[in-house]
Amino acid sequence: MADRSNWLRVLAQASGQQGRPHLGECPDCRLPRLQVRFIVNPDTRVGYALLWCAACLRGVLVSRVRAPEGMPVRLLDDPLSTEGVPDFLRHE
Ligand SMILES: [Zn+2]
Repeated sequence: MADRSNWLRVLAQASGQQGRPHLGECPDCRLPRLQVRFIVNPDTRVGYALLWCAACLRGVLVSRVRAPEGMPVRLLDDPLSTEGVPDFLRHE
């Protein structure tokens, strides 16, 4: 199984284009089923990120990250900011 550092590398390489996140393949199962959600302050675009694989339901929560340019975000004060995020196994 991949460890947290593999997942952090995927997050660091994530980009947003045309309102869609562009992500690589899952470090654990290798399927291109990754999803990400950045939940941030609207002014600084700094907050935390949830990155997970919809196929194997593994992922990470990473705090104090900045959403890349063009990446869709949710806001920290939005009570529905994590709506639709599945319950996934977090690499700590
Ligand atoms: Zn996976």
